Amino acid sequence: MSPSSSTAPDPVGSAQPPGPLPLALAGPRRAPGRGAAKPPRHLADLPLAERRAVVAGLGQPPFRASQLSRHFFGRYTDQPEEMSDLPRAGRDELAQALLPRLLTAERELTCDAGTTRKTLWRTFDGALVESVLMRYPDRVTMCVSSQAGCGMACPFCATGQAGLTRNLSTAEIVAQVVAGARLLADGQVPGADDPAKPARVSNVVFMGMGEPLANYASVVAAVRRMTDPVPEGMGISQRSVTVSTVGLVPAIARLAAERLSVTLAVSLHAPDDELRDTLVPVNRRWKVAEVLDAAWDYAAATGRRVSIEYALIKDINDQAWRADALGALLAGRLAHVNLIPLNPTPGSKWTASRPSAQREFVRRLEAHGVPVTVRDTRGREIDGACGQLAASARS
Ligand code: SAH
Repeated sequence: MSPSSSTAPDPVGSAQPPGPLPLALAGPRRAPGRGAAKPPRHLADLPLAERRAVVAGLGQPPFRASQLSRHFFGRYTDQPEEMSDLPRAGRDELAQALLPRLLTAERELTCDAGTTRKTLWRTFDGALVESVLMRYPDRVTMCVSSQAGCGMACPFCATGQAGLTRNLSTAEIVAQVVAGARLLADGQVPGADDPAKPARVSNVVFMGMGEPLANYASVVAAVRRMTDPVPEGMGISQRSVTVSTVGLVPAIARLAAERLSVTLAVSLHAPDDELRDTLVPVNRRWKVAEVLDAAWDYAAATGRRVSIEYALIKDINDQAWRADALGALLAGRLAHVNLIPLNPTPGSKWTASRPSAQREFVRRLEAHGVPVTVRDTRGREIDGACGQLAASARS
């Protein structure tokens, strides 16, 4: 993608009218010049006390850190000219030190009458990541990426095909949510709510690109930043945040010890090791039984019901006997199953299950007393589901 063909939105990526956009995104995997440099430091990388220290280091009163933080986390702006409570002298310096531009919207696609909105972001070093905003009558969910690419190599997942580019920084993760919050606050996302009452981001799911628990420190810090009250963070409820993992057992145990009330989602996709070894290759390291033990320990530590993700793939993992095997593993546990009709990746030989197979799968799980929902397929026509967004930009 040449710079001249990219869009130029504001730094939190708010203002692009969707317009008619191509559904297949064109462009190279990343811009030239990607180095090993770290993303620039941003206030969302730091606890408030450290932001104060940075401000003091610039010779400004430390309370300016709270003012800046309120602008970013409460008003969703990083533009110095919008910060009239800060003296003009020194404003730009503060913004440069703590609010560098991290993400530039490369493309925005919308569907579902504008209530689903996918953004392809370019990072400072040219990596591409995606986020998806989904507005429902009663909530707004942001699906965020935790890594550019992914190293887990699940064969049905678009991101898994491309490999890992790099971990995102805490602020690069948080900035995706702030960008969505800004769109909502600006009234740019249509919805069923009272128009007089601007919607807020109520839920965050780590189900975009990447394996969040493989970028543990940045992800946990991002969760804290999203959920700490303004000005420390954004003030989203911890209970409304879901961290989805392939099943990195030691990291699940570590997360359980964090004393966070976030929901854990485990991408199981098969009840048996033989199949799961192929669908989720990290299963060769941590088996189904170990992953589920870690999940039950997480449920016990947090009191939170674990979400078991299961992408239904026609004739691969959707057999009635596998539903029974899954039901037997989960019966009586603090868990529910989220069935995801497979969103086929380009060129894949796999497709979603037949409706009759899906119905039977649900029926058998319910017969084991296991709560089950079928995930809605919002955003499918814009490759919005499950990490397929940047893949289409690379093809
Ligand atoms: N790495 C994390 C988060 C990534 S994606 C994880 O694996 O949980 C979120 C969910 O989407 C995962 O359950 C993932 O397996 C699923 N997914 C990925 N590609 C998919 C596809 N093509 N169709 C349906 N679900 C998919």
